Amino acid sequence: MASKVVLASGNRGKVREIGALLAGLDFEVVPQSDFDLAEADESGLTFVENAIIKARHAADQTGLAAIADDSGLAVDALNGAPGIYSSRFAGVDASDQQNLDKLLFELSGLPDTQRTARFQCAIVYMTHAADPTPIICQGSWEGRILSESRGANGFGYDPVFYLPDHHCTSAELAPAVKNSLSHRGQALRKLLAALQSH
Ligand code: IMP
Repeated sequence: MASKVVLASGNRGKVREIGALLAGLDFEVVPQSDFDLAEADESGLTFVENAIIKARHAADQTGLAAIADDSGLAVDALNGAPGIYSSRFAGVDASDQQNLDKLLFELSGLPDTQRTARFQCAIVYMTHAADPTPIICQGSWEGRILSESRGANGFGYDPVFYLPDHHCTSAELAPAVKNSLSHRGQALRKLLAALQSH
């Protein structure tokens, strides 16, 4: 029987994506929302720390192995902000549009050369809450922040994340192409490889 892994995310899209990826590995990925869990206290200062905190919390509360991810945008001119605060850059309940508007405001007037940034993703797998050797995989995707939005795909900061090699923003990429390039796709493929030899 497939062993169950809880995914510390309420995002159905992520559950489907990670479930499909792990399909050949005899894992059944169960969303955290199937359990009545309190929110984890994301008190880390890095993506890796927060992914560990979320995975440990889910493993502790469910008694299952757990996978958690944490991701965001790090802008060089802002010393890495919004970073781990990407989803709440303009406030706790801010919309994607409000976060994006704040980012453009903070960067207004800066030339292209100073608008470098990267999406970062950390994914953690641990077999139980006290696992001293979690698998930690990261992905990083380099780009530049435009001064106005382009494209309608994706979410979050995608419409202003320009990819010089592709001459478009990540919101102008087809979803499958984005997955093949993105920080999250990179980290997920590393996790798959690590689990295959685990
Ligand atoms: P989470 O890891 O899904 O909670 O994402 C954190 C935040 O980082 C999101 O709310 C977005 O603002 C931003 N973010 C992470 N990945 C992406 C991406 O692929 N495109 C655009 N924004 C992203």
